[in-house]
Amino acid sequence: MAAPHVLLVDPSPLRDVLAERIRMQGFAVTAAPDAATGAHLALSDPPAIVIADLWMPGISGVQLCRLLRSEPATESVPIILRGPEQRQRDRFWAERAGAAAYVASGRMGDLVRALTRALAESPPPADTFFTQLSGGELDLRDRIASHLDTALFESVIASEVRALSVCGTFARLFDLLSQLVAQVTSYRWLAVYTARPARLGLHAHPAVRPQAEAEARQVLGVPDHVPVVCVEDEDAWEGLEGPPALVEEVRLGAESLGRLALAARHPSDRQDQALARVIAQELGGPIRIATLMEESERLAMVDPLTGLLNRRAFAMSAHRELARMERTGEPLSVFLIDVDHFKQVNDTRGHATGDTVLAAVGALLPRTVRANDLVGRWGGEEFVVALTGSLLGPAALRAEEVRKAIAALDVRGTDGRPVPLTASIGVAAFRPGDTLDSVVERADRAMYAAKAAGRNRVEVEPVPTLELLSAPVDRARVAAR
Ligand code: GH3
Ligand code: MG
Ligand code: MG
Repeated sequence: MAAPHVLLVDPSPLRDVLAERIRMQGFAVTAAPDAATGAHLALSDPPAIVIADLWMPGISGVQLCRLLRSEPATESVPIILRGPEQRQRDRFWAERAGAAAYVASGRMGDLVRALTRALAESPPPADTFFTQLSGGELDLRDRIASHLDTALFESVIASEVRALSVCGTFARLFDLLSQLVAQVTSYRWLAVYTARPARLGLHAHPAVRPQAEAEARQVLGVPDHVPVVCVEDEDAWEGLEGPPALVEEVRLGAESLGRLALAARHPSDRQDQALARVIAQELGGPIRIATLMEESERLAMVDPLTGLLNRRAFAMSAHRELARMERTGEPLSVFLIDVDHFKQVNDTRGHATGDTVLAAVGALLPRTVRANDLVGRWGGEEFVVALTGSLLGPAALRAEEVRKAIAALDVRGTDGRPVPLTASIGVAAFRPGDTLDSVVERADRAMYAAKAAGRNRVEVEPVPTLELLSAPVDRARVAAR
């Protein structure tokens, strides 16, 4: 077998001595006195392996390494960089530039071991693949500069994508991502599919959105029932014609989180390919963080047994509603619903049956009020509803419907037998100067009045004047003036 061809790039006067010592280890050695000569030799007749100094005048070993890594003729030729012994940062930088090994200068044994290992690990050389370099060092410098620009551009894009980690929601993350990508390339549409939860982010021009969505679903394999988060704006290109979309897998470590598709505008643009690859590589972390943040937000808001807002989340939403009605003068009423003799259900039928009752009431309530109304679990077997735009009179009628619906619920215990179920409801309406607590407290008092009056009934708070019942809207407006 022919001796492996080693290209030694070494500007020092000891170059020939070193070359001879490597030859004695059974290698065929060509020596070059500087990186430019070395690069020309390597590109025109790729060797089995290159050894170069890390620090050389003119073109550095790191630059030479990046050049050889990026040129098709030498992309799989291993490179060993030599440098000062105790320099961690040099070692780090050499590895990042794509060197197969970093060896301290003067360590012949280490160098030979690194040579043997790198040769054993490197793929067999491609069939003689010769490149001609036109100019001299100037052309080389242009090429290196262009490779470094590409590397720098990619690392800037990567860090911009990583910075999207703070977005908090997938919708916001995807919106900012499309703004970023629209700044660096012109595309027909951009799509990101995440598997859990299943959703599709799509950025397209409004004029071509339906076609873009159909195309994105097709190339990413996203079924029709998966919801789409769409960013429609004029930054995307309006046309429909273009090359097939570039698809990249989005991973976090070994786990696949989804896929990204970029429908470029111009055919076979290598830069777009690199862009899609870099974004997909970096997007896993931000997607995972946004998903976790959404999930923890949801868990912090939702009562797990009933699926309703918990007390804290209900209070937050109700405060927003109160502020809004304070501005608009719209009425707002509140019910407090308390299951009758619930302790007895727990005691006689077991806690699990008690939980089934609470879950059944929790499922019923949102169906018996309007979509804009807020429904929460106030605590234990008590539920709270805020009816937006509702005066006390209509709210009392609605409460009566809720009472009937609860009494009509067919709930079965763990033993399969029906559980008799009723609730008492207190109703109060928001008055100028009220807080959430003060209005709920009046609803609570009304609810206790309903208990005292025999349970399974609705009681309305005592109303100070008739006026309140008929026109609290006007009162609120008068008070605001
Ligand atoms: P009243 O008609 O006067 O409202 O009587 P009650 O038995 O419903 O009222 P009380 O407040 O004495 O009892 C409420 C019971 O609700 C006591 C508590 O153990 C039970 N409880 C509270 N939270 C839960 C829960 O999450 N699951 C179950 N199974 N029971 C709960
Ligand atoms: Mg209670
Ligand atoms: Mg009760």
